Amino acid sequence: MATRIAIFQLSSCWGCQESLLDLYEKLVPILPSLDVKYWCAVIDVKKQSLNEIPKAGIDVSFVEGMCRTEDDVELLKLAREKSKLLLAFGTCSTYGGIPSLANMFEKDELLRRKYIETESIVEGTIPTVNLPKISPYIVKNDQLVKVDLKLPGCPPTTDNIAKAVMSLLQGQAPTMETKSVCDECKREKEEKISITEFKRSFVGLIDSKKCLLSQGYLCMGPGTRAGCGSQCPNANAPCGGCYGPIDCGADHGAKLMSAIASVVDMPTEKLSESIKDVVGTFYKFTLPSALIPMSVRTGKRR
Ligand code: SF4
Ligand code: SF4
Ligand code: SF4
Repeated sequence: MATRIAIFQLSSCWGCQESLLDLYEKLVPILPSLDVKYWCAVIDVKKQSLNEIPKAGIDVSFVEGMCRTEDDVELLKLAREKSKLLLAFGTCSTYGGIPSLANMFEKDELLRRKYIETESIVEGTIPTVNLPKISPYIVKNDQLVKVDLKLPGCPPTTDNIAKAVMSLLQGQAPTMETKSVCDECKREKEEKISITEFKRSFVGLIDSKKCLLSQGYLCMGPGTRAGCGSQCPNANAPCGGCYGPIDCGADHGAKLMSAIASVVDMPTEKLSESIKDVVGTFYKFTLPSALIPMSVRTGKRR
């Protein structure tokens, strides 16, 4: 019997689905094994179509994105109700992702920035009709519903997705790497690193063979889950940490700060000057997973 699958999109950039579609012809042998129940990108379905699907009538649902709006929350809950297995597809779905950096701001500030203050807008107003109800802040999907499986990555690589789909078709849970990006990285590492200054990635000439961190570039490889094949360091760019923590339940930012602190040799004032955006650096993908989310800026515990 074909596996009944669905792909749901909450608020997201669609990059995870794009990565899936990058399977191209590799999708062809897989498709006959799939009975696609819901996937707005490839079949003509609407949210109401889900009414026809019984509870647990989908074997596995891939959920992309996080809940920015109340419509998202409703769709996520429907996905949960209709699915035997629910897979958090990508880093937005697993940890909140880049859009969750919006938790640094109040909802009114976000709306003002978007509709009034954006540089290209003249005499803007905040719309009051046809605007989805925006949640005051973003929480991880697994705080709203039970999530059975996780496939992080912004986006997960096409290879990661292919392996996950093949495992699921064989009735097995996809496995997650337990190593770090550094473990996959082929750059020359030094026994001991001692950094006296951090550089932005566009400053200076990067030695293409040596570890980026040892050259003073903030690379998140030491505290980030492997799986992407270390693709950013391979392309001469520091890892930003998009696969999230090695232990799914960990506070990724805290782990990264701890890893970076262990190689720093500079006074505190210089350190805080050389890291321009602490939250955007260490919690770029996982802010809703932080142990003290938002409390630093607003005093609120969320
Ligand atoms: S995880 Fe990245 S690629 Fe996927 S939807 Fe979120 S922002 Fe887009
Ligand atoms: S810190 Fe970055 S560049 Fe250095 S080994 Fe780890 S992943 Fe590679
Ligand atoms: S190297 Fe880091 S930022 Fe780049 S894809 Fe891999 S985990 Fe994501």
